[in-house]
Amino acid sequence: MSCNRCKNIAVYSRKYSGESLCSSCFSNSIVQKTAKTISKNNMIRNGDVVGVAVSGGKDSLSLLHVLKKMSESHNFKLIAITIDEGIIGYRDEALEIVRSFCNSLGVEHRSYSYKDLFDLTLEESLEIRENEKTSSCSICGILRRRAIDFGARDLEVDVIATGHNLDDVLQTFIINLLSGDTNKIGWMEPATSTTKMRKIKPFCEIYENEIVFYAFTNEIPFQSEQCPHMNEGIRTEIREFLNSLENHHNGIKNSMYGSVMRLVHTVKDANYKQKRVCQKCGNQCTGEICSVCTMLVNLKQEKS
Ligand code: SF4
Ligand SMILES: [Zn+2]
Ligand SMILES: [Zn+2]
Repeated sequence: MSCNRCKNIAVYSRKYSGESLCSSCFSNSIVQKTAKTISKNNMIRNGDVVGVAVSGGKDSLSLLHVLKKMSESHNFKLIAITIDEGIIGYRDEALEIVRSFCNSLGVEHRSYSYKDLFDLTLEESLEIRENEKTSSCSICGILRRRAIDFGARDLEVDVIATGHNLDDVLQTFIINLLSGDTNKIGWMEPATSTTKMRKIKPFCEIYENEIVFYAFTNEIPFQSEQCPHMNEGIRTEIREFLNSLENHHNGIKNSMYGSVMRLVHTVKDANYKQKRVCQKCGNQCTGEICSVCTMLVNLKQEKS
């Protein structure tokens, strides 16, 4: 079968649109779609220094690859930032992959560790957590947000880009819904801006399986080993549920994404009236002290 956009042999069948694409037209379609998301949401501005949070997985390395291509014809600069959680036997391999990939692209790379920033590795935090109900990923996610904020300030970047894809957005929406955290739905915009930092998700309209194919067809050497804590939370079950829906109803994730974004704006407008800032760190929150500061104080108390 030949590509619908040129005469080459098609290697990818995009079920939700019915298109067949060759490797080069497929890659161009991902770059174009990302560029459209960036421009529609005014994610990157002229002269910006963009910090790309790079974990070593397929999403973040593909994002760096796509943004590097764009930076060659636009006026913005890239710096890759990796957060080292201190997960033995997992993060070391990822750091090596990221370092050599950044080197090959000619992108500056910096890493920050939980140990240096909080005097605690993830494993140490898990040992002293108050109870097992707080999942590894929720502790890790909170510490990572704070570590990325620190790195962004340290490197004086204008905006932080993360590799979250469309599937991640849908999963997070369902998790917030199931846990009763409806306020958080209002913070799920693909481009957010607080007084402290702008954060963007340029891949938010791209299916996860298309990013896997982008990484594969562009020979991006991502880490295949999964984090040992990966399957502890509910996210994996939700991912499988959404994939099964998509297999039976092509394009259902795209239409759900549209609905989720409409709800995000409605909740955001309702939240706006009760918008507050954390008294400790100045980030947006719903109470007096944000969840990150609360958790850090608790962990420190447990440790001492
Ligand atoms: S899977 Fe969970 S614990 Fe592992 S790196 Fe990701 S957020 Fe952290
Ligand atoms: Zn083609
Ligand atoms: Zn705070």
